[in-house]
Amino acid sequence: MKEENELQVLSTANCNDLLKDLEELVSINSQSANIPGIKKVNEWIKHFVADLNPKIIEIPNLIYQSADLLHCIFPAKTEDFQTIALVLHSDTVLSPNNKSPIKIEGQKAFGSGIADMKGGIVSCLYGLKNYLNSCEIQNLEIHLIVSPNEEVGSLGFHDYFRLIGEKCDYAFCFEPALEDESLIVSRSGNKWYSLKTKSSSFHTGRACKYQYNPCHALSELIVSLKSKVMPIEGLKFHVSSIQSNSEHFNRSSSLLECRLDVRFNCRSQVKYFDECLSEELKQFFVEGMNVTVHDDCPTMKNNPLHLASFQEKILQFAPQIKFSSTTGCSDINYFSAEKNVCLDGLGAIGSGMHSRREFIYWDKLPKKAGLVSKILFEL
Ligand SMILES: [Zn+2]
Repeated sequence: MKEENELQVLSTANCNDLLKDLEELVSINSQSANIPGIKKVNEWIKHFVADLNPKIIEIPNLIYQSADLLHCIFPAKTEDFQTIALVLHSDTVLSPNNKSPIKIEGQKAFGSGIADMKGGIVSCLYGLKNYLNSCEIQNLEIHLIVSPNEEVGSLGFHDYFRLIGEKCDYAFCFEPALEDESLIVSRSGNKWYSLKTKSSSFHTGRACKYQYNPCHALSELIVSLKSKVMPIEGLKFHVSSIQSNSEHFNRSSSLLECRLDVRFNCRSQVKYFDECLSEELKQFFVEGMNVTVHDDCPTMKNNPLHLASFQEKILQFAPQIKFSSTTGCSDINYFSAEKNVCLDGLGAIGSGMHSRREFIYWDKLPKKAGLVSKILFEL
């Protein structure tokens, strides 16, 4: 098939090295709370790109405890150039299985973080290296950005991402592709709310049936909110948890916390949700509710005209590539800006992310690196 050969840009030796490097990376425990392990992954990346002579900047996290963000810049060799961000993260949700960090079953390679996103790290770095070593004149200024804490929301680095996104013509992220192998051209935004209320606890047997009960109020609020939000295309919310401090059948809770995860396609939808939420809170909660926002991630959107011409370029050499949308967020959402084109899913093809059954199709990874390299050549 034409596309198979077109993307086979790495030599056999390179493909073997890629898989060895993947195994080495997966063996490093870089679970989000393990700062020394995350530093080790960052050192590994720095070592990998050292012969390409990047300018290296390490950005400390001034707000939250995390390892530094790694930013490697590969300056263009022409006066007229385009700017591109390649977005990675070095942390994983789970730590590796100590006995066998990688397990191969046929074409599948299992391991913690192998899809999200150790596989993406190697597809990016091999694609980048192949491009930089083979291009005659480098007409791209490349920013390799490695978040140390993406799996906990990259807290502390959102403004930095926005700044880079504003000055880039393109931003590519190496999260896993969608299950049907599609690349991702749009992502919903998310807003996470915590609703907390305090009230006096009462004996539920002795209280009158109309006694104000925050658990009832919360249930009514959820049902009512759902009826207002469900008809809106692209807007959804899920209650991710409800916690209370009562463990008794006959005593009401005095503390109640509800966490909400809202997904949206545009800012006006969040505004609508906020209006509905505040109306419902007034209606159902006589004793008040403390609302805090834990994350407010923008949508990743592309200008349709810019996107169409970019897709056309890719389809010329890889006509099998599919493009799709998802409601999940990643760091790339923060890079999305008016003038740039954002693309995600350039990492591994696999499934079971954040679980003990996380896997990738290891034989497809070299071609992903080839795709990255080809795209860089075509820009
Ligand atoms: Zn990820």
